[in-house]
Amino acid sequence: SRRILIAGNWKMNMRADSGASLAKGIVDAVGKSPAVEVVLCPPSVYLSSVADAVAGTPVELGSQNLYAAEDGAFTGEVNASMLTDVGCRFVILGHSERRQLMGETDACVAKKLHAAFAGNLVPIVCVGETLEQRESGDTESVVETQIRGSLEGLDEARAANIVIAYEPVWAIGTGKTASKEQAEAVHAFIRELLGKMFSTEVAEQIRIQYGGSVKPGNAEELLSQPNIDGALVGGASLKVDDFAGIIKAAP
Ligand code: 13P
Repeated sequence: SRRILIAGNWKMNMRADSGASLAKGIVDAVGKSPAVEVVLCPPSVYLSSVADAVAGTPVELGSQNLYAAEDGAFTGEVNASMLTDVGCRFVILGHSERRQLMGETDACVAKKLHAAFAGNLVPIVCVGETLEQRESGDTESVVETQIRGSLEGLDEARAANIVIAYEPVWAIGTGKTASKEQAEAVHAFIRELLGKMFSTEVAEQIRIQYGGSVKPGNAEELLSQPNIDGALVGGASLKVDDFAGIIKAAP
């Protein structure tokens, strides 16, 4: 059975002090042996201070991005080895904001995926359709193209360890959550696709998170769907009470 994975994507928010106290608040709320897995993904400049705050606790650390190269002349970038060095276990890849604002393509995400594995990081690969694509009935084809492209070259032995985050773009930061039925339908489609790409055994092990306006009030119904294995939380991960409420809503 798949362990629920709740990840907080802080995006470009918080400062050293506020981030450390948010992390400490979440550590306290999570306790020593949580039923779910909890990951915090602060901006990269604050990874070390959040790493200190969660050290020796079950709360884990993730990055929001990486650059797919070994050390070298890549001004402004951070690679997988550096992320592991500061204590990351996870890395978010291909978030829709990076796809839209930084021009990341599926091929670029695939390159980062392989760099993540080389650096012993667990990739959280984000996919999701825009409102226009949903309204024109293209959700499944868009998500299939993103998944096939972003996982290009991934072998079956490693596939079970990845995490997919289904984040419909129209639900991100808009307060419009996908209904549990809408989300579950896409999650089931993704798992079936993963079964075709790898094997049903592997597909059954891959965790598929939902992201997009997850809040304490809608987390329970989303997380109780058979193919929803966690949440990737933006806005509601910036407040201890909201994020703790989502963690406690997990079945
Ligand atoms: P919100 O929870 O703020 O909608 O953001 C979702 C998201 O993009 C998480 O990666």
